[in-house]
Amino acid sequence: MPKTIIGLSTDELRALVEKAGEPAYRGNQLAEWVYQREAHTFGEMTNLPLSLRSQLSREYEAGRSQILSVQHGRDTTIKLLLAMRDGAKVETVGLPYAGHFSCCVSTQVGCPVGCVFCATGLSGYVRNLTAGEIVEQVLAVQEVVRNKQLPPGSHNNRIDHVTFMGMGEPLLNQAATMKAIQLLKNELGISMRHLTLSTVGFVPGIYKLAREKTQITLAVSLHAANDQLRRKLIPRVIKFSVTEILDACREFVKQTGRRVTLEYCLLNGINDGSAEAHELARAVGRLNCHVNLIPYNAVSGPNLHSPPRERIRAFRGILESAGIPITQRLQRGTGIDAACGQLRNRTV
Ligand code: SF4
Repeated sequence: MPKTIIGLSTDELRALVEKAGEPAYRGNQLAEWVYQREAHTFGEMTNLPLSLRSQLSREYEAGRSQILSVQHGRDTTIKLLLAMRDGAKVETVGLPYAGHFSCCVSTQVGCPVGCVFCATGLSGYVRNLTAGEIVEQVLAVQEVVRNKQLPPGSHNNRIDHVTFMGMGEPLLNQAATMKAIQLLKNELGISMRHLTLSTVGFVPGIYKLAREKTQITLAVSLHAANDQLRRKLIPRVIKFSVTEILDACREFVKQTGRRVTLEYCLLNGINDGSAEAHELARAVGRLNCHVNLIPYNAVSGPNLHSPPRERIRAFRGILESAGIPITQRLQRGTGIDAACGQLRNRTV
């Protein structure tokens, strides 16, 4: 399969064109075509010499993955199913808000972690995505937006927030994820502070983010504050204890000055009782964090349910009484299976 130029930075593109005997500024033009003007072919890059375009096309592709389907939710969420160049399928979600437009990207095809409440985890792991494949999900959603395939009522036309919360565990594909972060910042101009990476708690990866003082928002999916329950909910691959994960979060806060978000998926009768709420409050007490409560989004498969409203309120109340900042995630995209934990690379 030919290599693709999506995923190369401006500096790498400058080096590439220089190797081809052209001045380095042609690399900037190439980057503009790929990341700003959303070209799909070298033929569109009309300000580049024909000789350079044909030389590049012998070794590289400029094409993008195919958009297999676009689903529109009633709440203006859009979900794209993309076929990568090798046929691997991933889902990407676009979330228009009143003041900004967010894109939720996948970092792996499937996921090896297997959280019991997650559709992606249920369908197994295929492979890691490259940095280019991560970034082109944003370009694909952007293209849908530009082509005005937006549902009525949405007004934004530029993606300015990206969350690494789609299919896959980003810290198990950390090199590609980190390169994608740099590309989103440098080539698409999205502020680091508008990038959120969500992990189930891969401790070495969190320490690496801390060491590199990465100014993203770190979201850690905790889901339980005791190891026994957590291992039941997150049975494979990630074996770190709650203490180890929270210590790594403390180091991230210390090195970056950024508050950590702790995600907590509320499952009726499993992790949503007052004992679990008190346990969570004790565990995170002195960490600079806020807890984001996510009532479970049903996926076909496990016999799990979202707690009734009064149980959620009670859980929330215990944390609030302990002085822990709380948010509760708005359920968006549920009508098209685009909500948290519902992605699973299928066409229907
Ligand atoms: S919730 Fe995230 S880490 Fe867990 S199985 Fe789903 S995609 Fe993987």
